[in-house]
Amino acid sequence: MSPLSLFTFTCMVLCAVHCFPSEESFEVSDEQEEDSVNDNSLKEEESDISTLLEKANKNVGQGLDEPTVIGDIAIPTDLGNADPCTSRGCKWRKSKNGVVYVPYRISNQFSSRERSVIVRGLNSFKASTCVQFIRRRRQRDYVYIQSRNGCYSFVGRRGGGQVVSLSRRGCVYHQIVQHELLHALGFNHEQTRSDRDQHVRILLQNVIRGMEHNFNKINTNNLGTPYDYGSVMHYGRYAFSRNRQPTIVPIPNSNVQIGRATQMSSNDILRINRLYGCRKSE
Ligand SMILES: [Zn+2]
Repeated sequence: MSPLSLFTFTCMVLCAVHCFPSEESFEVSDEQEEDSVNDNSLKEEESDISTLLEKANKNVGQGLDEPTVIGDIAIPTDLGNADPCTSRGCKWRKSKNGVVYVPYRISNQFSSRERSVIVRGLNSFKASTCVQFIRRRRQRDYVYIQSRNGCYSFVGRRGGGQVVSLSRRGCVYHQIVQHELLHALGFNHEQTRSDRDQHVRILLQNVIRGMEHNFNKINTNNLGTPYDYGSVMHYGRYAFSRNRQPTIVPIPNSNVQIGRATQMSSNDILRINRLYGCRKSE
């Protein structure tokens, strides 16, 4: 009900869609099964995470049953903001065998192609971390992936079923799937890191009025990892720009590419392994 507008993150080149056997029966009964919705051929200027998110999230938070969303982060009503909560118990639990199982459910709103993009994103975590997304059976806490109004997620485990929204209109891309799932695992945007002022300059004068909060710094736990322009959690240079001028400029070298990740970086992976104490931590 709050007409917040928002953003999201960058985009990707299309992901080659792998054919995973569908894991559960689902059908697409939607009239919206148009292939053009998720045309994988994003144009160069669109292939920026924050550009994708902004586009997909134009009307986010306007549905009656939608949570309040700031940028692409859903805000729990019992919490003033989305500060890192990982020291307060919002991590997902590790089982005795050292694996962090995160149950998921995928809504049947998605086409089989969209679903395979999502499953590929889910599966990408277990290759390099101890986090494993598994189909939910009876577990109490789980992520429920749905096509709602925009791309967004809560930060960390909320308890019970928590929505991760991947709108069929603009969110079903590999890097966005990973980005939203990283929020659900407890991570914030790279440019909100506590040490970001040593790595980027934020030009608030170019930011859309009312969107400045997207550039607030957060007292993040950086887990001893370096600031990473190539993180899938980093916004692009023109995120929330009101005048086509940059809003985020890397320092000291302003030419470094930012926000163009097409998948998790090695630092994104390292952070998961450190936050969750995975043994396979490099
Ligand atoms: Zn985000």
